Amino acid sequence: MGTAYLVGAGPGDPKLITRRGEELLRRADVVLHDALVDQELLALASPHAEIIDVGRRAGETRWLTQERINRLLVQLARRHRVVVRLKGGDPLVFGRGGEEALALKQAGIPFEIVPGVTAGVGALAYAGIPLTHRGVAATVAFVTAHDRVESVDKELWRHLAELGGTVVVYMGAGRIREVTDRLVRLGRSADTPAAVVESGTLPRQRVVLGTLGDVADRSGERSGPALIVVGEVARFGEQIDWLQRGPLVGRSVLVARARPQRSWIAGRLRELGASVVEFPTIRAHAGPDADAVPEAVARQGGRGAVVFTGAAAVAASTRALRRGGLDARALAGLQLVAIGRETIAALRRAGLRRDVALRSYLPIRVTAVLTRALGPLDGLPVLLVRDGEEPSALAAGLTAAGARVAQLQVANRTIDGRGCRHIERLIAARQLDAVVLPSSSAAEALVSGGLSLPSGLRVFAIGPATAATAARLGLPTARVPQSSGADGLIADVLGVLTTTAVVAPPRASASSD
Ligand code: SAH
Repeated sequence: MGTAYLVGAGPGDPKLITRRGEELLRRADVVLHDALVDQELLALASPHAEIIDVGRRAGETRWLTQERINRLLVQLARRHRVVVRLKGGDPLVFGRGGEEALALKQAGIPFEIVPGVTAGVGALAYAGIPLTHRGVAATVAFVTAHDRVESVDKELWRHLAELGGTVVVYMGAGRIREVTDRLVRLGRSADTPAAVVESGTLPRQRVVLGTLGDVADRSGERSGPALIVVGEVARFGEQIDWLQRGPLVGRSVLVARARPQRSWIAGRLRELGASVVEFPTIRAHAGPDADAVPEAVARQGGRGAVVFTGAAAVAASTRALRRGGLDARALAGLQLVAIGRETIAALRRAGLRRDVALRSYLPIRVTAVLTRALGPLDGLPVLLVRDGEEPSALAAGLTAAGARVAQLQVANRTIDGRGCRHIERLIAARQLDAVVLPSSSAAEALVSGGLSLPSGLRVFAIGPATAATAARLGLPTARVPQSSGADGLIADVLGVLTTTAVVAPPRASASSD
């Protein structure tokens, strides 16, 4: 039997999870998560972990009841060692974490609760609204607008109105007017500062400042989770507004991918403020030749090169060495070559120094760079360690240059098209501003994942070969940047998306007037 962990994911920004939470996520065999949990956090889970979405989304009619979730959690903890129940914010603040803990206790399953930054704390910090302030507010109440609003809670709301101080209302996005009107009716002044913080801590955070009397009108349409903040402290939102917004704030971009790990391009677009979804999910499994690594390395006799074509290839190889009772010393004398940014990073993570790094997979480029770095390839043993079934063009190119090539496929990749419906909904709502194709194989994975793109979408390809693949696959015509490579692609996306108007309703900050 295993242990269940009720882990708080934090309010939205994936960086706000605790160190304990991240550690458990990396170790998890299974992750059960809510709708509000960021994809980037789920990407921390091992590629072997099973990821189960038990979240309920607006507009969906089928979802798991809390009882079903409790039962599922118990069943999973009986079968797996580390079961992480990842919940938005803090598990025990309007998160039904208490009910899950009770179910686990009743079933005799050991569990741990890992707190998280609750939205009422995290989103307010990012909005520059202090919860308490000397001489201004000395109490904070966290309340929900969701439970039995009128009848039983009448007394509660009267107390809240009389208490003064700061009131933070969860689950009230659809009821802002109802909530603010009620507080005024029960005695709080209509001039009391108030705020609505939507999608707090996320790139699309939107803060509307006003008063109890007018914040409902000011806040307009909403598309993300929101908190209503009532109290004198809300007026600080204007002065303490500190959040730097990147040039792509309010933009949503889909980045196609063919590899399990987060791509450099997706990370860069996030840094620039875009809200990024990566699709499809790719999982790595041990490949047919995983166990052959120690012997193949030994056969090199300390001569020649080992070429890694992906991050999963690095991970699978170091694992295979370890299983064989070996470590990095088995690679002594060999030139280590990494192709691709993620592969280079994976070697670094594995504590290995790369001798040659290159970003292009094109056989002529690889051959040329290797010749320059290692001298003539004639007769040189080269071990090509692949993490998928990519075409053998690279091996053929190296062989043609005279190298004695051995190949191992140490990992397999499978495509998981979950999340497809969610993206199709974004597209239908005209909320997806661009699709980025970082490689031909990523374009192919996108289509294999089951996503079809309507012709009106703006598509960016990394270069002409990828654009040609996209055309062959029937995707909308892709733009090709003037200067090639990942940097050129980012510059192109930035150029186009910062000069065109946002199609969807405004999602940028609209504080005060
Ligand atoms: N356990 C969570 C709360 C779950 S209830 C926590 O501790 O934060 C869900 C409500 O939380 C939403 O209706 C909204 O009111 C609030 N919320 C969650 N994430 C938010 C965010 N990023 N910005 C603003 N409000 C958020």
